[in-house]
Amino acid sequence: MVDFQKLKEIIEQNETFLLTCHVNPDADALGSEIAFAAILKKLGKTVYIVNHSETPEYLKFLDYLNLVEKYEPEKHDRIIDETDVLVAVDFNQSDRVVSMEKSFLKSPALKICIDHHEEPHKIFDYLFTGTEFVATGEIIYDFINETKIIELDENIALNLYSAIMTDTGSFRFERTTAKTHLIAAELLKFGLQPIEIYDKLYNQNEKSKIILLGAALETITTAHGGKVAYMTITRKMLDDAKADESEVDGFVNYCLSIKGVRVGLLFLEVKKGIKISYRSKGKIAINKLAAEFEGGGHTNASGSRIYGGTLAEYQPKIIKAAKKYLD
Ligand code: 5GP
Ligand code: MN
Repeated sequence: MVDFQKLKEIIEQNETFLLTCHVNPDADALGSEIAFAAILKKLGKTVYIVNHSETPEYLKFLDYLNLVEKYEPEKHDRIIDETDVLVAVDFNQSDRVVSMEKSFLKSPALKICIDHHEEPHKIFDYLFTGTEFVATGEIIYDFINETKIIELDENIALNLYSAIMTDTGSFRFERTTAKTHLIAAELLKFGLQPIEIYDKLYNQNEKSKIILLGAALETITTAHGGKVAYMTITRKMLDDAKADESEVDGFVNYCLSIKGVRVGLLFLEVKKGIKISYRSKGKIAINKLAAEFEGGGHTNASGSRIYGGTLAEYQPKIIKAAKKYLD
């Protein structure tokens, strides 16, 4: 159980809040940050949202308060130090804020975490978390619903709906329940148009992304009797498609769309090493495989970044290591 009364108390007892989310934010990270910031604003608090990454163009429609800033040490370190509360939204391990990690850790502010990932690091004063939540947006919805701290409005509903829609893969992924749909229904009552939101979230691809997807699909290989499927994206493929590494988001799911596949992996060459996305079906705890290779995440969706690692070295190792999780 999440102690929403405690969260309410923290809000009541403090004045300035700085919210931050993980690198390469998705609609759950941003939508949850913006919804939480909206609560604080309605209560007259001073609120900053500062993220390591720039907000992707297609998600800018969420930022109706025009609050989200990209981290610049000269501009934000002092605020990080002087704020009353630092709020980690949609992440629970400090390396997920990359360039902000040092300033985050050394700030004397009260540190709280609102998140739904596994294995939080012991760097927070309070956790408002649970892996049973499909999205961080669901935690924020429950918080509003249970404490009635503010009244929901259309803008907050848009952010929470986008958060939940994204993290459930549009109500397809494992943790989706009747409750998820009931929340979605409550949010839609504010006049949201699901078709419009879907279009904004999923149909804004650059042509380069679709070209890259074509190349990535051609690399799909299966292993372990067809239970594992993996995709490989090299720097050359990114360059040839004139695509950016953030555009591969979601590609790994194609591996899982193959009949009989239980584990899908995406190997991506990034500037300083490799990034792996891990996905699984059912009870296969793929975060354990990710943890073997400097990563982590959820039971069915995890990731890791291996700085200085190469595809040649790690791809065979990871595929071999995947075998023991298949039964
Ligand atoms: P994705 O494969 O979409 O980048 O990430 C899937 C999930 O894996 C994320 O929601 C996050 O929980 C986790 N994740 C991704 N990259 C990392 C990483 O480098 N380290 C850790 N600990 N978790 C990650
Ligand atoms: Mn999330």
